[in-house]
Parts: sequence; structure tokens; C-alpha cells
Amino acid sequence: MRLVLLGPPGAGKGTQAARLAAKYRIPHIATGDMFRAHAARGTPLGRQAKGHMDSGALVPDEVVIAMVRERLAEPDARRGFVLDGFPRTVPQAEALEELTEIDAVVNLQVGPEVIIERQAGRRSCPRGHVYNLRTHPPRRPGVCDVDGEPLVQREDDKPEVVRQRLREYEEKTKPLVDYYHRKSLLVTVHGEGSVDEVFYRITEALEARL
Ligand code: AMP
Repeated sequence: MRLVLLGPPGAGKGTQAARLAAKYRIPHIATGDMFRAHAARGTPLGRQAKGHMDSGALVPDEVVIAMVRERLAEPDARRGFVLDGFPRTVPQAEALEELTEIDAVVNLQVGPEVIIERQAGRRSCPRGHVYNLRTHPPRRPGVCDVDGEPLVQREDDKPEVVRQRLREYEEKTKPLVDYYHRKSLLVTVHGEGSVDEVFYRITEALEARL
């Protein structure tokens, strides 16, 4: 199972990718998480990425592609993977095609109100566990259920940066919907509703297809 999750910021890609990875026992490869981990460790790659991320811009294609190429070469990716947040541009999609075959691209469709609400309510712990103040609050306010770390709002979930990320999505990532449709890889799924509802729709659609 070699999957790509596509959709605007706040569509639920990270949440659903984690569920898919557990169900199909494949690695969840999230380029945003990889950049945040590098930034937290202060590596040269992390410092380079952070400048772009904090303003809501995309990291340059060649940087992302090199990182994904390395990750897909690791042994655990041989049985399959779910890519979350990659590709985000047509050149990235073309590079991915050179690296590996893809079985399906799940496009999570959500309306603008839901995107805004999900992003405004998102809180994350430093280890990457993600909550939503309204739809998926932690048991103890402000504290991660899993590891007890304090929850914070991602720098790029603040309203002015969210607007820039949405512009980047419209301009650079949305063309991938057509791109993968033309390649007959696109599986469109309605991304509103509960995590379980959306997950059920995705797995039904994938199993009907593969
Ligand atoms: P995400 O966690 O997927 O929302 O990604 C957070 C940020 O990481 C994005 O706003 C970009 O700055 C950067 N990023 C993640 N994936 C990519 C990608 N495939 N191409 C370019 N930038 C990316």
C-alpha cells in the first residue's frame, strides 16, 4: 500500500495518515513532522526549513525532495508507506514518480469553515501528538494525554500564517488534484465529520479500489 494524502491545511491529513499507517502497518511519512523534528534539534536542514515554515511558505522543492528520497530508501518503506504533506507541488509529484510507484492518492475535501475551525483549535505537544480544543480535547486542559507535555499552538497555526499557508495550497498544491486525476490515481473522500467517520470513508474507498 503506497499512499499519498492530499488536502488543504486542516483537512485532517495527519490524523488520518496515522490511522492508515497503523491499520496497514506501513510507515507514516510526514514531511512537516520531519522538518519540525529537524528544527527542534537545530540541524542545518531544520534551520533552513524553519524560516520558510514560520512564514507559511513552502520549503524549496529540492530540499524536500532530497529528504523524501532518503526516507523512502529506508528498509521500512519497502512494504509501503503513507505520505502526508508530500508532494505539495507539481515538481515534487514528478520527482516522486521517479522514486517509486503510487497506488492511490486520497484527496480529503473539506469546506473553508471547517479548515479554519480545525486550524484555530489545533494544539500540539512537542512530541507530535495533536488535539483539537473543540472536537478532540485532551483529558486535562493544556496537557498531552500520552506524555504529559504541555500543549502549544504551532507557530504556523496562528491566523496570519494560516492565511499564507492557504494561499500556498491554492496556488501550488491544488493543481495536484487534477494531476493525479489525469493519472487515474485520485480517490476523493469527504473529509468533514468525526475522525472515525472519515477514516471509514477512506478505507472503504481504498478497498473498493485496490
Ligand atoms: P505540515 O505539517 O504538513 O502542515 O507542514 C508544515 C510546513 O512544513 C509547511 O507549511 C511547509 O513550510 C513545510 N513543508 C512540509 N511539507 C512540505 C513539502 N512537501 N513541500 C514544501 N514544504 C513543506
